Amino acid sequence: SKQSGRNNFQFYTDELNQRLMERLDLEYRLRLALENEEFLLHYQPKLALVSGAICGAEALIRWQPAGESMISPASFIPIAEETGLIEDIGLWVLHEACRQAVKLNRLYGRELPIAVNVSPRQFRQSDLVSMVRSALLNSGLNPACLELEITESSLVHDTGSFIKTLQELKNLGVGLAIDDFGTGYSSMAYLKDFPVDRLKIDQVFVSNLEAEPSNIAILKAIVALGHSLNMKVIAEGVETAYQKAFLLGIGCDEMQGYHFSKPLHMDTFGKLLSDSCLK
Ligand code: C2E
Ligand code: CA
Ligand code: CA
Ligand code: CA
Repeated sequence: SKQSGRNNFQFYTDELNQRLMERLDLEYRLRLALENEEFLLHYQPKLALVSGAICGAEALIRWQPAGESMISPASFIPIAEETGLIEDIGLWVLHEACRQAVKLNRLYGRELPIAVNVSPRQFRQSDLVSMVRSALLNSGLNPACLELEITESSLVHDTGSFIKTLQELKNLGVGLAIDDFGTGYSSMAYLKDFPVDRLKIDQVFVSNLEAEPSNIAILKAIVALGHSLNMKVIAEGVETAYQKAFLLGIGCDEMQGYHFSKPLHMDTFGKLLSDSCLK
């Protein structure tokens, strides 16, 4: 009836309004969070599969509002990306990760590469290269100890400018990785032109391994592809001993995942490093 149609419409606009309000509220709170220094970085160790040694770590942002529980990036990075706030948040992440990497290197006497996520919007910022350069200079971090994780979705249309930016970053001496590999646009044709050191296999191929044997073929193919292009291959989301053994068996170089460690607070990560040095 007409009546219920109007009610539906009312319901629809109320819901839209509410979502809009929630978004605006989140955007506002994210801005404040940056000012009030409510963000922190956790570190998830990366393991070299053959030696079993910790070979690096990925910095992952967390939001800890005073008196509330920690908020995961999955619930605010997409909004930050849409609103453009990711540019400021990403800059903070870059500087903080470089500063903490210098501290970790000093404390443990090991030059451990720290990986930082660069979102598509950040990647397209015209001054990305100079921002990375400043973060390195300000912190004094050895460029080889910084790795940038870039997703295929950063490559929207212009492959030429994508490769040019990668090359400029590479010239700074930092490492580059393609994140979430296998899920993005098919960049197979250009992959050989990307000056990247690492392919990071998306966790969907790993986490379904036991249930979906068809992933075996995909994982083998990605490892072979990466190696044929002189790249290291790392698998993320490794949760079981079976997955780890399988990856080792097909020659995958490194792994990251709950099976070895969840992302850790900087101090806990430091302790893990010092324990592993004593071994
Ligand atoms: P990502 O870059 O693909 O990071 C991997 C995510 O998988 C992390 O989630 C990590 O905690 C989670 N993970 C690691 N091992 C396992 C495992 O064994 N099983 C499962 N189920 N999950 C695992 P997190 O920390 O919640 O981050 C989610 C996403 O948020 C990241 O995905 C990344 O896209 C984004 N993100 C996090 N930190 C930053 C940042 O500093 N800057 C930007 N631009 N994005 C970030
Ligand atoms: Ca990542
Ligand atoms: Ca990833
Ligand atoms: Ca992901």
